Amino acid sequence: DCLSPWYHFLIAIMSVLNQLMTPTAGASAEPPRNKVTVVGVGQVGMACAISILLRDLADELALVDVMEDRLKGEMMDLQHGSLFLKTSKIVADKDYAVTANSRLVVVTAGVRQQEGESRLNLVQRNVNVFKMIIPQIMKHSPNCTLIVVSNPVDVLTYVTWKLSGLPKHRVIGSGTNLDSARFRFLMAERLGIHATAFNGWVLGEHGDTSVPVWSGANVAGVNLQKLNPAMGTDVDKEGWKATHKAVVDSAYEVIRLKGYTNWAIGLSVADLTESIVKNMGRIHPVSTMVKDMYGISEEVFLSLPCVLNGGGVGSVVNMTLNEDEVAQLKKSADTLWGIQKDLKDL
Ligand code: NAD
Repeated sequence: DCLSPWYHFLIAIMSVLNQLMTPTAGASAEPPRNKVTVVGVGQVGMACAISILLRDLADELALVDVMEDRLKGEMMDLQHGSLFLKTSKIVADKDYAVTANSRLVVVTAGVRQQEGESRLNLVQRNVNVFKMIIPQIMKHSPNCTLIVVSNPVDVLTYVTWKLSGLPKHRVIGSGTNLDSARFRFLMAERLGIHATAFNGWVLGEHGDTSVPVWSGANVAGVNLQKLNPAMGTDVDKEGWKATHKAVVDSAYEVIRLKGYTNWAIGLSVADLTESIVKNMGRIHPVSTMVKDMYGISEEVFLSLPCVLNGGGVGSVVNMTLNEDEVAQLKKSADTLWGIQKDLKDL
């Protein structure tokens, strides 16, 4: 007998299947409707993937990375959890064909900060990585919406917009969505309430020059700056400004302690994903093209409150910012443009 035992095994399986079921006309495969791709299966990519899976946001999840063994290992490990998930198809490959027909693509690939390294320092290394990734994504999912997570996120969102050729509303940076989540947690903790109960926005650049909008901070509609006009300033006796400083320092602190940040960013990306795939119209602080807003004249991406729906950024909320807050936004825009203007071949 020259036939392998596998062949016999296969025949047996096939015949069981043939006996068990009679195919109908509906047996041909339907294309996915809410396929999500995560590029980069490092700490951040996998935290995004598990958060998206646990919230049942995708009917198919595709993973891509250049490290083939790690990629296959992560795929298999997630697939083994299928019994406990409601995403029936989890696929992975270094070839972007596996990402075809994605509705949403989350890009987390690239290098991350070393201890004490600034996000902006990563720029050239990650631009080179993106030049390989973005054209491949576009080739296989020309109608997708992109969420950029890799750092420096605002610059790389601009880079992605340029490389993809997509309209600006379809390229979103995770931006200060995480900074705002950290701010709301820290402020709420100090007030003894849940993070959702403190309303406050951190806008502008993700990272070192982010702008806390103290003028809008409120609990149940009660404006906190009306209770303490010095809130957020250096002369505030209660020292609320320290909360924003803690937001800025928190990534550095977590990286010093555990080597990377992943859970909060993963959860926050799943939240953005939900607003998009469910066409919800919720408002998130995410990085969007801000040229011609608040007197900014260059093509930079900064975070403003954006209405997210099925098509990406539906509209941008015009915040009633005070002079100082506008000045800080402009300063972030100048910093980012200072970096972007030297980027080549975009
Ligand atoms: P990591 O090193 O754990 O993972 C990065 C992954 O990218 C690796 O698996 C690597 O193989 C892969 N990769 C590299 N080049 C690639 C390519 N050309 N194609 C496909 N995959 C490629 O890093 P991490 O901790 O997951 O961080 C990822 C990025 O996310 C970093 O840039 C980090 O700074 C950023 N980050 C952003 C936020 C945010 O709020 N925006 C928060 C945390 C981390």
